[in-house]
Amino acid sequence: MNYYPDETSGWFPPMFTQIARLFSLSIFDINMRAATFHGPGDIRVSDVDKPSIEDPESAVLRVTHTAVCGSDLWFYRGEVDRDIPSRVGHEPMGIVEAVGDAVTSVSPGDRVFAPFRISCGECEFCRRGLHTSCVNGESWSVPNGGAQGEMVRCPHADGTLVRIPDRHADDEATLRSVLPLTDVMGTGHHAAVSAGVKPGSACAVIGDGAVGLCGVLAAKRLGASQIIAVGHHDNRLQIASEFGATEIVNEQGDTAIETIKSLTNGGPEHVLECVGATSSMETAVEICRPGGTVGYVGVPHGLGDGLDLYPFFSDNIAIQGGVAPVRAYADELLADVLQGTLDPAPVFTKTVDLDNIAEGYQAMDRRDAVKVLVTVQWAVLYIA
Ligand SMILES: [Zn+2]
Ligand SMILES: [Zn+2]
Repeated sequence: MNYYPDETSGWFPPMFTQIARLFSLSIFDINMRAATFHGPGDIRVSDVDKPSIEDPESAVLRVTHTAVCGSDLWFYRGEVDRDIPSRVGHEPMGIVEAVGDAVTSVSPGDRVFAPFRISCGECEFCRRGLHTSCVNGESWSVPNGGAQGEMVRCPHADGTLVRIPDRHADDEATLRSVLPLTDVMGTGHHAAVSAGVKPGSACAVIGDGAVGLCGVLAAKRLGASQIIAVGHHDNRLQIASEFGATEIVNEQGDTAIETIKSLTNGGPEHVLECVGATSSMETAVEICRPGGTVGYVGVPHGLGDGLDLYPFFSDNIAIQGGVAPVRAYADELLADVLQGTLDPAPVFTKTVDLDNIAEGYQAMDRRDAVKVLVTVQWAVLYIA
């Protein structure tokens, strides 16, 4: 049910609508707006249930910034099944609205962000920095409300949320730079760490999507002296250059492999695989120097008959990586962003507000945008 007049009807000024919505959200415990998936190519903004505190360890956030992810395109394109309709989004940043009695690390009014996976912070795997294997782990969608909406519930608030210090909490430029820490920057960093990148390393980054670009930034941050960015889009590879890539390879197949080998006198010792397709994994092992390491973070897809291990066997190439435990890296990456030595914000090449999030999905689907930032306007009004 829609509780609000149609903002496009013309008789009810949009600002007044925003204020009415804000008032009703604050005073009456009614619905809120969130992106919902209704089938391939069909994202809408719907009135949905507002989340609430359900246990002492949870928090509710008013989302101010969120993002559309490359992995959202899988259900958007119909490549994976998803309930219809369903709530979507997993990269939230916002203001804490309420906390349960047991929450100690954040308070109402704090600016926070959160990784794409909810984690408890206390189990065996969280303590080992493998938060994505948390035995109490949850996703942001059902039943927590999805992160592409006005509010979201965070179970295990102490183990999941990362607080942004007050002096940075309302600086819009800083918040844009922090938001990629919810997913792509942590994932690019995991690729570099998994590939064993160290000061002076020669490495190649396969993939010029947001994760690959963040992999370039991460390799630079870890001190790599040679960073070859491998991709197929000149505009994205331009961002890779700005992020610290020393060489760009925009070639296909064997030509690309030969070029990378010649640039590194036989192949880089560290390869960051940031795509997840059969061809990119094959390229990764083909270019990797014997005895080297492939750090992979691209979600495997299209590997139908599996991956041929023989090339790894024949040259003693290690493969490490997997889904990135972004929470494990959040504090150290946040410190660098706040210091001004790390800035992944250029991956956001388009910004939309929540009402126009469908346009953001379309831009990602058409590859017109590397990554789309979504602002939630009423929340900006609320904190103003
Ligand atoms: Zn994501
Ligand atoms: Zn855990």
